[in-house]
Amino acid sequence: MTNSKAYPFSSATALAQALGKIDQESQGVVLPIHVATTYIRGADNTYPTGNVYSRADNPTYKPVEQLLCQLEGGEQALLFGSGMAAATAVFLGLKPGDHVVAPTVMYWALRNWLLNFATDWGLRIDFVDMTDLEAVAAAITPQQTKLVWLETPGNPMWTISDIAAISELAKSAGAAVAVDSTCATPLLTQPLALGADIVMHSATKYLNGHSDVIAGALITKQDSPYWQRIRAVRAQGGAVPSPHDAAQLLRGMRTMHLRVRESCSNAMFLAEQLEQHPQILEVLYPGLPSFAGHAVACKQMHGGFGGMLSIRVKGGESAAVHLAANTKLWKRATSLGGVESLIEHRASVEGEGTPCPPDLLRLSAGIEDKHELLNDLFQALPKT
Ligand SMILES: *Cc1c(COP(=O)(O)O)cnc(C)c1O
Repeated sequence: MTNSKAYPFSSATALAQALGKIDQESQGVVLPIHVATTYIRGADNTYPTGNVYSRADNPTYKPVEQLLCQLEGGEQALLFGSGMAAATAVFLGLKPGDHVVAPTVMYWALRNWLLNFATDWGLRIDFVDMTDLEAVAAAITPQQTKLVWLETPGNPMWTISDIAAISELAKSAGAAVAVDSTCATPLLTQPLALGADIVMHSATKYLNGHSDVIAGALITKQDSPYWQRIRAVRAQGGAVPSPHDAAQLLRGMRTMHLRVRESCSNAMFLAEQLEQHPQILEVLYPGLPSFAGHAVACKQMHGGFGGMLSIRVKGGESAAVHLAANTKLWKRATSLGGVESLIEHRASVEGEGTPCPPDLLRLSAGIEDKHELLNDLFQALPKT
């Protein structure tokens, strides 16, 4: 959907009012859900509204896509049936034989898909340490590399990639840059303004925020033949969300700025407190001055360092699993970005080849009382 450049207000206002749209027919302050799968053709054989068939597109997506364009500074956006559907569409828009550079630290399910599916399908993929700009420059091959994929902060070590510096390297070699910005949210970082071409979000996480919708999104800086191929992947493969999910996602997004602010502030508090604890080996959080990516995070993240942190527990894997087993408030579950705090032992999820150490627990800070969250972790830590 095309950006409504006419909307002159802040992100907070854009979100709270969902761009101020009302239903013209009923004057309702909440937009209707369009359940129709098919649309009437004009007598002249055209589709006057642009709506044809709901495997390809649905009017319920439009306000969500416009809001995402507004937040990310993009020209067009597409909603997908999941974050993975959005991410894989970016790769399926390439052609067999194309070369891709991807991070060693990234969302595990996507890394698995790249290794097990995309390579069989014919993409040539190099995984590099995105914090090492010389290694990134060496991996990008002019004329061959078509896409550099970034994820920042990157799961589950929260590695920070310098979007501006890497975009410059990619541009000079003619490669596109796509950023999985799920954990930065559209509020803390705007990758398109830093030189990226496409932004991806798992809308299942902070955008929806209530752990009750699976959805994904892509936003492009500008229309291009590559973007049209990605659009065709969604339309022809049917990687679309249900209209009900799209409406529920928009409802969740209307409070995103408040939720993200609370999650960031809780995560910062927890990171600072946990770093002092004798049973904690290391806290990984971009907001800590002790964190390797802190300087770059300060440059490209604004208003907070995200709601995600990881802790490494003294005593190895068993101590980490013990901690997760003994929390009462923190819920042991995968996923992130919801109002409730989640804790997860990642190495056992990610399996062989993971860069994740066995003593690591991933924490998604929700919006509960920060002292109660901290005390719950303290009481669950193994006693020496
Ligand atoms: C969850 C997640 C995805 C995948 O999104 P789904 O909606 O679960 O398909 C991709 N990237 C990141 C960083 C995620 O957290």
